[in-house]
Amino acid sequence: MSLDKRNTEIGAFLPYGRQVVDEDDIAAVVETLRSDWLTTGPKVTAFEEAVSKFSGAGYGVAVNSGTAALHAAMDAIGVGAGDEVIVPSMTFAATANCVVYQGGVPVFADVDVDTLLLDPADVERKITPKTKAIIAVDYAGHPCDYDMLRAICEKHKLRLVADACHAIGGEYRGRKVGTLADCTVFSFHPVKHITTGEGGMVVTGDATLAEKMRRFRNHGIRTDHRQREEQGTWHYEMADLGYNLRISDFQCALGLSQLRKLSGFLARRRKIARQYEQAFSALGPVEPLAVAGDVKHAWHLYVVRLADGAVRKKVFGQLRKSGIGANVHYIPVHLHPYYRERFDCHEGLCPVAEAAYERILSLPIWPGMDEGHVERVVREISGGV
Ligand SMILES: *Cc1c(COP(=O)(O)O)cnc(C)c1O
Repeated sequence: MSLDKRNTEIGAFLPYGRQVVDEDDIAAVVETLRSDWLTTGPKVTAFEEAVSKFSGAGYGVAVNSGTAALHAAMDAIGVGAGDEVIVPSMTFAATANCVVYQGGVPVFADVDVDTLLLDPADVERKITPKTKAIIAVDYAGHPCDYDMLRAICEKHKLRLVADACHAIGGEYRGRKVGTLADCTVFSFHPVKHITTGEGGMVVTGDATLAEKMRRFRNHGIRTDHRQREEQGTWHYEMADLGYNLRISDFQCALGLSQLRKLSGFLARRRKIARQYEQAFSALGPVEPLAVAGDVKHAWHLYVVRLADGAVRKKVFGQLRKSGIGANVHYIPVHLHPYYRERFDCHEGLCPVAEAAYERILSLPIWPGMDEGHVERVVREISGGV
């Protein structure tokens, strides 16, 4: 069985997301393993340049996860002790955790009822003199309303960070995800659009922020090992307190190989989304999220809403029983015990996100799926509602 085939024939179980890795990808990794550089070498730089070019940003800083990328972005924009950062509640915990890493306070804002994207009106309500920044999450792959968010940031002198871990390849009003905020964060976890095993990147148009993040990923040291070797020197200076957030060269070789396939992956995801949309337009009880007319969706997730919690539970059970890895994205972050116990978080804080959470379901969508897989999901879900 060829590897290409193994990507689609994965036994009976159909996960909600999965990597597609082929022989080219493997060859790229093996070639790098035979080279002189295993970490922070030429492949890291090449991957940074390729992703920043793809996303229309000037600079890229690659790190070892999307979470590390969020952490580096928080440090670069100067989030520190006591600073408040507004984040949506409908996201993965890392979006809020990165604020806490810096001693800051995540302030949870509610989401729009139709798209589950950060609600600009609630963001404005949650601004205080301590607010430093907003993190917008392009939930499911749908870019947020960046013109609106930018206007709020300009009015209140705030920084804007895009958590675009779902949205590489997306566009908003003809502008690419990567150009819409001060810093834009991508993840290369295997369920995301392209993978490096674990990995992430911040792209930015600001050279100073990029330089700061490059230091942050390497203990706060001004030069990396390769630069010192090229300069024939042993001397280095630690300018700030940083971490080891470095990604390896062989991971970036995988990333470069995957990036060449990204346009094709996005086209497949868009095709699967259209097939679901057509099927569900005839199936009243299954309601996909709204999509604005002025965006290009990147479709990391395909999220539908069911009538209520009881129906969701039944459909989830039915799908799992028939080998379909439906999932729920996300438990509103402010409801997790950590945030309830240590921050001013409680039920009722984000009523739209809380109500949506009861009814949503993420259906399988990844580039190795074909029309038959989608038909199978639609058939099982039709039997459940
Ligand atoms: C995946 C993801 C992250 C974290 O990325 P990792 O690479 O897993 O650390 C952060 N935010 C969102 C919205 C994500 O989906």
